[in-house]
Amino acid sequence: DRKVSVLGVDFLHTTMAGMIERLKAHLERGDKTFVVTANPEIVLHAQDDVAYRSYLEKATYVTADGIGVVKAAGMLGQPLPERVTGFDMFMALLDIANERKYSIYLLGAKNEVLEKTIAEINKQFPNVRIAGSHHGFFDWDSTEIEDEIHSLQPDMVFLALGFPRQEKWIAERYDKFSKGLFMGIGGSFDVLAG
Ligand code: UDP
Repeated sequence: DRKVSVLGVDFLHTTMAGMIERLKAHLERGDKTFVVTANPEIVLHAQDDVAYRSYLEKATYVTADGIGVVKAAGMLGQPLPERVTGFDMFMALLDIANERKYSIYLLGAKNEVLEKTIAEINKQFPNVRIAGSHHGFFDWDSTEIEDEIHSLQPDMVFLALGFPRQEKWIAERYDKFSKGLFMGIGGSFDVLAG
């Protein structure tokens, strides 16, 4: 895989369409995948937070979330094709899940937002199986949520906990899981819930 390094963060050289094809293949094989869509804030944060940098290193793919990263790569003489954002990928993955009847797990946001997100998914993507969900204000030391995900074996797990919590949550537990596409999507539930 071709990577482009921006301030020490290795971005996958890919278009949105290329990324989706790649993720489709992982889903077909039932692989375990960890995707981080990194914006400039994340790149800067990784500069002086060693732990956060290790979460990024654990990711299968880091994509350029935002025009700032694409511009920075261009200025460094190693252009990236385009931005590949969390929200766009979330929508594209829901589309794939709808087509292939994949199961998903949603973790994050306030209960009210989560309920509205689930209602929107049921409306816009009726064939998606929502295996489970949990709001984003839980006891970090409890293993209840990861145990549930582990037993449900969803094809995709979307975390809307905001950065850096979502990447931390995935990275700290990633070794426990045997399958699933894990991705932090920031405020995307709020956007979908409207
Ligand atoms: N959130 C959450 N748990 C928390 C803090 C935030 O689930 O402990 C949710 C919040 O409700 C929102 C999403 O994370 O739906 C994004 O939050 P924020 O805007 O703070 O994230 P950022 O934009 O910084 O990634």
